[in-house]
Amino acid sequence: MKNMNSEQIEKLIKELIGQIGEDPSREGLKDTPARVAKSFTKLYGGYGTNPKEIITVFDNEGYDEMVIARDIEFYSMCEHHMLPFYGKVHIGYIPDQKIVGLSKMPRMIELYSRRLQNQERLTKQIADTLNEVLKPKGVGVVIQAAHMCMQARGVEKQHSNMVTSSFTGLFKKNMNTRSEFLNLIK
Ligand code: ZN
Repeated sequence: MKNMNSEQIEKLIKELIGQIGEDPSREGLKDTPARVAKSFTKLYGGYGTNPKEIITVFDNEGYDEMVIARDIEFYSMCEHHMLPFYGKVHIGYIPDQKIVGLSKMPRMIELYSRRLQNQERLTKQIADTLNEVLKPKGVGVVIQAAHMCMQARGVEKQHSNMVTSSFTGLFKKNMNTRSEFLNLIK
């Protein structure tokens, strides 16, 4: 993935401001293209690093119950409208041979969310990554998010949240495991 060309982005944003009927040279807008270009390095900073490579795993010393990381905040940009969607990720897994450093979860989520995304794919990518790296007995991922594209355009009720989930292994096959997880993240 090539690095963003800030100069080129500034040029395009300036043009875009003109196209929506504004004057890009007026006081309040003249530095906006530069600010937007700078914000893009954060908003779209998830490209270029493989999230699977930043996860550190450790040997499991016999722990065989569910591990939960809940309420991990994320911000992403919806690929259909380029507007933010944001909320919380809840992750659960039952280890087999490996466990994961929990501090790596937010960083992994950051790398997937700071891209043009949709919530379904984001949910599945997080679950698939943990499944691949940890080879656990099962993974569950639930994401609750508010979408500015729904709220700002008045498509849905103003405060409606979208909930998505992805389950593997025992979380998929075993109803008790799944409901234990869903209870623990409430
Ligand atoms: Zn959207």
